[in-house]
Amino acid sequence: MDYATKESLKVLFETKLHGVMRMYLDTCARCGLCVESCHVYASMPEAKYTAVGRAEVVRKIFRRYFKREGRIAPWLGEVLEFNDGTMEKLYEAAFSCTGCRRCMVHCPFGIDTQAVMSIAKALLIGADKEPKILSMLADMSVAKGEGMDETRDSYAEALVNLEPEVKALWPASPTPAIPYEKTCANVLYVALAGSHSIVPAAAIMNAAGENWTLSSFEAVNFGTFVGDAIKAKAISDRIIAEALRLGVKEVAVVECGTAFRVLKQQIGEQPFRVSAFVELIDRYLTAGRITVDKSLHKDLTTYHDPCQIARNGGVIEQPRRVLRAVTDYFTEMTPNREENWCCGGGGGLVAMGELEFRMKSSKVKADQLRATGARVVATACENCHSQLSDLTEHYQLGMRVEFLSNLVAKALVKPS
Ligand code: SF4
Ligand code: SF4
Repeated sequence: MDYATKESLKVLFETKLHGVMRMYLDTCARCGLCVESCHVYASMPEAKYTAVGRAEVVRKIFRRYFKREGRIAPWLGEVLEFNDGTMEKLYEAAFSCTGCRRCMVHCPFGIDTQAVMSIAKALLIGADKEPKILSMLADMSVAKGEGMDETRDSYAEALVNLEPEVKALWPASPTPAIPYEKTCANVLYVALAGSHSIVPAAAIMNAAGENWTLSSFEAVNFGTFVGDAIKAKAISDRIIAEALRLGVKEVAVVECGTAFRVLKQQIGEQPFRVSAFVELIDRYLTAGRITVDKSLHKDLTTYHDPCQIARNGGVIEQPRRVLRAVTDYFTEMTPNREENWCCGGGGGLVAMGELEFRMKSSKVKADQLRATGARVVATACENCHSQLSDLTEHYQLGMRVEFLSNLVAKALVKPS
């Protein structure tokens, strides 16, 4: 690694050293309380897969360049210089961590390993050593947003083609069944690519008599996965601008944990509310705006709390109320809620492929699923759905994976 790159990485690291981050880097007591928290370590017990082991790679660089002892006498302390070997260690630390923050729950100082790994990811981008697939997906997402004017008509036409599917679930849907670019709606629904993320949600909102409109933009934020703050902001900014332009009161985010957390917690104060779609379903059920037939769903069903929605987003009881509305056969997995094991697919790992690592590092999740005896695992996150589908197949769990929205849409009681 040349001198100029090392210097630029030093500057880049310094930009990340705000007060809380310094605390995370200075405070670790190496008490080890986080060790057993990580699903990767619990499934593949190697020190490098502990939260403290991962953070230590970043701390060693911090000591070398930003602590007096490391600068003056690097040979005395546990330090790492910027070089190719260090970048490999950073890559392994950052991209074996799903950013689930289960370790943070158990750390007496609340050290946020996901935040510490954001330094690792930024340094990898600075050294041009990040996973290229994630950067490419982030670039495509930004470009897609910029080219929206050219694709608007074909998008609107594709939505018209989905009307029969929405009306099959809710025949009393108005026309258009998927309102698009409507101003002054109550709800702007932000979906993902693919009709599966639009059709059930449209049927539910139509059944509730909601005044809603569909977003032109996809919720997924590959900028966040790769750790590129500029691209992440570009992707979330266009949704904010759209919500402001259309004058909506609420942005409801499709079942996607990362998109929800970015919009809920990382965009600052906005004149609209941000909700996970499951919160909206829960409100409709509680207010009697939709009714579901629970006699249709008799398979024993468990619920996987997506890390970014439950532990990190605080949406915990709503999905349980929704599931209890659609079935009498709900069983919790253990542990659950804030303590739930990560599915093992977060942090960009699903998009990166990494099937062998994802399966090995999530054995503890497969064991947890199997122990429920359930035939169905429901969840409220696309990423979790993909990972759980791979897991159930790989470990032959004999379960099917369902989105909450799909379970609700199929159970809607239609007017006679
Ligand atoms: S954030 Fe999750 S994956 Fe990362 S170290 Fe902590 S427990 Fe492990
Ligand atoms: S629990 Fe917190 S203080 Fe203890 S080793 Fe883990 S990160 Fe460090």
